[in-house]
Amino acid sequence: MFNLVLFGPPGSGKGTQSENIVKTYDLRHISTGDLLRDEVSRNTALGVEAKKYMNQGMLVPDEVVIGMISSKIDGSADARGFVFDGFPRTRTQAEALDKLLEFKNTEIHLVLSLEVPENDLIARLVNRGVTSGRSDDTEEVITARIKEYHLKTEPVARYYNEHGKLERIAGHLPVAETFKTLAKNINKYLLPVT
Ligand code: ADP
Repeated sequence: MFNLVLFGPPGSGKGTQSENIVKTYDLRHISTGDLLRDEVSRNTALGVEAKKYMNQGMLVPDEVVIGMISSKIDGSADARGFVFDGFPRTRTQAEALDKLLEFKNTEIHLVLSLEVPENDLIARLVNRGVTSGRSDDTEEVITARIKEYHLKTEPVARYYNEHGKLERIAGHLPVAETFKTLAKNINKYLLPVT
C-alpha cells in the first residue's frame, strides 16, 4: 500500500489535486469534508452533530471524525492505497491515523503540503462560495476556518516534519503546474497507472 496525506489550508486546492492523484495512481480518495457533507445531507445523527461545527467554521470533534475514518479504511481492504484529504487536522487525529494504519501493517508514506499565500486563499474561497452552494463559504465562516487551521491544523505539519515525511509544494501556480510537482514527489514511491 501507498498512503498519502494531502495537507494545506482551506482553499489550497486539496480537493482538485486529490481527484487528479487518485485517477493517476489508482488510489482511494478519503475526504473528511465530503464524508461529513454526505452525513449532513442525509440528516444522520452524526450529520446533525457535525453541522453545528461546520457552519461556524470550527473543527468537528476528533472522536467523531476518527470513527468515521476508521470504518472507511476498514471498508477498503483491497485498495492500492489512500489519499487523505482534509484529514488529519489535529495532532490527535494524526496519532489516531498512525495507529489505524499500523493495524493494517501499513503507514503514511508521504505528506505533501500545498503552500498558498493567505490573500489568494480568501479570494479563492469567496469566489467558490458564489458557485459551490456550500453554506460555509461565506467570508465570516472562511475567516473562522483559517483561524482553526493556524491554531489546530498547522501543528500536524510539524508532527509529520519530525517524522521526516513532509514535503512543501508551491500551490499558487495553475492546477496543472502544481500537479506536476506533486506527481514528481509521488513517483519516488509509486508509478502512475495512466
Ligand atoms: P476546507 O478544507 O476547504 O475548509 P473541508 O471540506 O475539508 O473544507 O472541510 C469543511 C468543514 O468540515 C471544516 O471546516 C470542518 O468543520 C469539517 N471537517 C472536515 N474535515 C475535518 C477533520 N478532519 N476534523 C474536524 N473537522 C473536519
